[in-house]
Amino acid sequence: MKTMKQNICNRRTFLTVTTLTAGSAVFLKRNIALSTQISNEKSVMKFSFRPYELKLNHPFTLATSSRTVTPGVQVEIEFGGKTGYGEAALPPYLGESTESVSAFLKRIDWTAFSNPFEMEDILGSIDEIADNNTAAKAAVDIALHDLNGKLLGVPCYQLLGLSPKQIPPTTFTISIAEPDVIRTQTQNAAGKFKILKVKLGRDNDKEIIETIRSVTDLPLIVDVNQGWKDKHYALDNIYWLREKGIVMVEQPLPKSWWEEAGWLTERSPLPIFADESIQRISDVMKIKGYFSGINIKLMKCTGMREAWKMITLARACHLGVMLGCMTETSCAIAAAVHLSSAADFVDLDGNLLIANDLFQGIRLENGRQLPTDLPGLGINKIEQ
Ligand code: MG
Repeated sequence: MKTMKQNICNRRTFLTVTTLTAGSAVFLKRNIALSTQISNEKSVMKFSFRPYELKLNHPFTLATSSRTVTPGVQVEIEFGGKTGYGEAALPPYLGESTESVSAFLKRIDWTAFSNPFEMEDILGSIDEIADNNTAAKAAVDIALHDLNGKLLGVPCYQLLGLSPKQIPPTTFTISIAEPDVIRTQTQNAAGKFKILKVKLGRDNDKEIIETIRSVTDLPLIVDVNQGWKDKHYALDNIYWLREKGIVMVEQPLPKSWWEEAGWLTERSPLPIFADESIQRISDVMKIKGYFSGINIKLMKCTGMREAWKMITLARACHLGVMLGCMTETSCAIAAAVHLSSAADFVDLDGNLLIANDLFQGIRLENGRQLPTDLPGLGINKIEQ
């Protein structure tokens, strides 16, 4: 069944394509010339990386864990007088660490690549170095997109044929906490955001929702993080949540419960999105018939290039699209923001949750996370 949003998106995609076709001849000619010039320069890509630990403003609590820091690795690629920035964010449940990312990045042979615009070759080769290591791969992908945008003098959203005018408002996540803390978090968020996301999946779901509803009637997404262990219990909860103004449910059941997910999605009055059940593009085809949509995260899917392919495939399968994140600096958040006009739901609040951001360049305006119109990711490094 095609949703109104999908019809809007299809129309939007058509308009984007026709506009790009009509107006891009001069742009492409200039870029092809520049690309040729750069690839003939015999310059080499200079790659470097370093660990960087993100400090969270508040403890981040899910149904299964709680933490106050997120390990990360910052990467840079220099070429043609420009520097592209990238980042791997490593929440422990994803299975990567600063050590595993460093070990993976050291295995990349940069002498094999001479043209940063050949991203399909570069990223394809890097993907084949080892299975998994998706955050390490995403760090390189993000840095290459930033670099190429800077070399061409255009923002990444323009490289993708997208317009920031279409970016939906981002959710802001209310973490699992005591009621008075939830009330304060909600009061602080309600004036700045147009939609909130709430973590459920313990034994106090209704108390959390009632607490939030005592403060605001903003639309809510709930993320259960696999926390419900019975499909009938899940369906009853979803009917109750619909009455409370919830608009979407993320990963209500354990990730391997495919038959139960299909049963629930068929009966649910709200769309059900997969998060933990999906990782990369090869998973998208499996989702149809079991979920209403997918939550794409750059750290799980190896970066912007594969995310864009996943969005395209999801649309062809009539699936909804959400763009999510980890706790990340404004670098990785910017990478997702540049893609976000192609999504139905945007959950890109990760940079707002940390105390030691390394970059500036994303602005929260009327509840939307917006990029600058500077080249590449449009971010600037903050002097430390
Ligand atoms: Mg989730």
